[in-house]
Amino acid sequence: MSIVGSSNSLEIRARCLLAAACAIFLSASITQRHVATAAVPTVPILMYHHVGDWGPSNPGWADWVVKPADFAQQLDWLKSNGYHTITFRELLADTAAGRAPAPKSVIISFDDGWSYQGVVIHQELEPRGMRAVLFVYPGAIGRSPNGGGYISWVELLDLEANGSEVQSHTLTHPRLTEVQQPALDRELRESRAIIETQLGHPARVLAYPFGAHDERVMQAAAAAGYDRAVRADDVRTATPDGPLRLPRIRVGYGEGLDVFKARLTHGESGLIGTNSGT
Ligand SMILES: [Zn+2]
Repeated sequence: MSIVGSSNSLEIRARCLLAAACAIFLSASITQRHVATAAVPTVPILMYHHVGDWGPSNPGWADWVVKPADFAQQLDWLKSNGYHTITFRELLADTAAGRAPAPKSVIISFDDGWSYQGVVIHQELEPRGMRAVLFVYPGAIGRSPNGGGYISWVELLDLEANGSEVQSHTLTHPRLTEVQQPALDRELRESRAIIETQLGHPARVLAYPFGAHDERVMQAAAAAGYDRAVRADDVRTATPDGPLRLPRIRVGYGEGLDVFKARLTHGESGLIGTNSGT
């Protein structure tokens, strides 16, 4: 028997529409609140790109290269001052369990997945009992070790076996604020899916390429399943630092230990103002 057009079906449809509208409204309002204002436990997140002596050869790179001697000194200082490295999965597990992160926890992050970052982690972090978080974009992951200058999945698996962690830096590293739907969703969702398939663990943390994000991008990141996302600066702004715009501490070329300590303890905004990140 067809009930199309009956008063019961109209009432059911009306209730369904009302319920759907409420669900959409509640979902949107929850997402809005989650993205814009919710404070979450976090720890200092250091942001590195390159470790090398070639920073001054191109003024545009100086903010993104750290001298090897400075890098080693920074790691030694962290270790001798009681800091210990954690991963985002550990931070999220603590948060889910209602635990505060252990005092002097720090996350050391590397962006972009260049092959020699793996060498740096093996040679400098691991002997000191330290781990890193690598934000990689699958569009550049090498098919074999050192392929095209980018790290390979095999090398990433090896780094994770030693305690480091791989998370998402989108699929192809675009400036997300300039990417429209549906490409934006693809950048966010496919990166997660590929990392999870290749490495066998959830990838629910995102680093915005160039640090570029806005409310629309944060909403898309939440919808794509990211629990946390990180910026490329720690400049204080009028927008609250919610779970999808966590600050990171940039370390620059030739900066002495005093600057490093000041950045770690006081944030970047009091030192140099804004930067755009990569
Ligand atoms: Zn990047």
